[in-house]
Amino acid sequence: MQVTFLGTSSGVPTRARNVSAVALRLPQRAELWLFDCGEGTQHQFMRSDLRVSQLRRIFVTHMHGDHVFGLPGLLASLGMAGNCRGVDLYGPDPLPDFLESALRTSSTRIGYPLRTHPVREAAQQGRVLLDDGDLLVRSAPLTHRIPAYAYRVDQKPRPGHFNVDKARELGIPPGPVYADLKAGLTVTLEDGRIIRGDTLTGPARPGCSVVYCTDTVFCEAAVELAQGADLLIHESTFAHAEADMAFQRQHSTSTMAAQTAALAGVKQLVLTHLSPRYVAGNAFTPEDLLEEARAIFANTLVARDFLSVDVSPA
Ligand code: ZN
Repeated sequence: MQVTFLGTSSGVPTRARNVSAVALRLPQRAELWLFDCGEGTQHQFMRSDLRVSQLRRIFVTHMHGDHVFGLPGLLASLGMAGNCRGVDLYGPDPLPDFLESALRTSSTRIGYPLRTHPVREAAQQGRVLLDDGDLLVRSAPLTHRIPAYAYRVDQKPRPGHFNVDKARELGIPPGPVYADLKAGLTVTLEDGRIIRGDTLTGPARPGCSVVYCTDTVFCEAAVELAQGADLLIHESTFAHAEADMAFQRQHSTSTMAAQTAALAGVKQLVLTHLSPRYVAGNAFTPEDLLEEARAIFANTLVARDFLSVDVSPA
C-alpha cells in the first residue's frame, strides 16, 4: 500500500498546503481509496501522479467544510470523464443530504452508481464497516465538536510462500493440485501419497495496516483503533504550547498525536492537519511540531502536500 497526502492544512488552504485529503493506493488492484475530500482535492489529484479514474471508495471523517467541500466537484468531474464504474462513500449521517442537495441544486447528473454508507453504528458498536475479501475497514468515534470518525484499513494475512522446488523434488506432478497445496489443503496424489499443503508453504505473511485519525482531541478510542498499526496518520493542529486552544477546539497537539502513537504501539506516525498559522515567521513551524512529537514517539514524520509513504508489514 502507498499513502499520498493531497492536503495537510487545517481549516483553510495555504499556498503550500491544501485542506484535508489522503489517498491510499492499492497497486495490486489498480485502485485508489480517498480519506476526506477538502476543497480543491481534484486539483491536487491532477498535480500528483495518482489517477483519479482509479478512485473506488471515499471515507469521510466528519462534515466540517475543510474535509468535504471538494466532494461535489470531484464526483461531478468523475461523471464527466465517463469512465467511472462507481464510487462507494462512507461517512457521518448528514453526508447523503449534503451531497444530494449540492448535486440537485446545481443540476449535476452523476452518470455512475454512487452509494453512500453510514458509519455511525458500525463505529459505535466496533463492527467491521467493510470486508472486501482482502481488506478490512473498521471505524471508531473520535472526540470533536461534531461527530467524527477514524478509519483503520487492515490487509488480511496472505498465505505463505509456496515452495515449488520442494514440491518438484517430491515428484508431485504439476497441475491443479499445486493450487490446492498452495492454499494449505491436504491432497491425495494418484500414487496414493497424502501430502499436507502446510508442509510446502511458509508461515502466513501478515498484511499491513493504516489508521487515519482526524479531527479529534486526544481520546482512548483512537488509541484502541490504532493498536499495532503499521502507519498512524494523526491530526496535529496545534503545537504543545497551544494545548489550551486544542482542548477548546477539540483538536490535537503534536504531543497528543505522539502519545496516541506510543500508547497504541504503532510502527510509524505521520502528523497532518496543521494549523495554517505554522509557517516561517511564526513562533512555531511544522519542524517544531515534529520535534515535539519525536521527543515522545521517535518514528514520526510531518506531512507536506504530495508526500508519499510506503506501508509494508513489519
Ligand atoms: Zn474539523
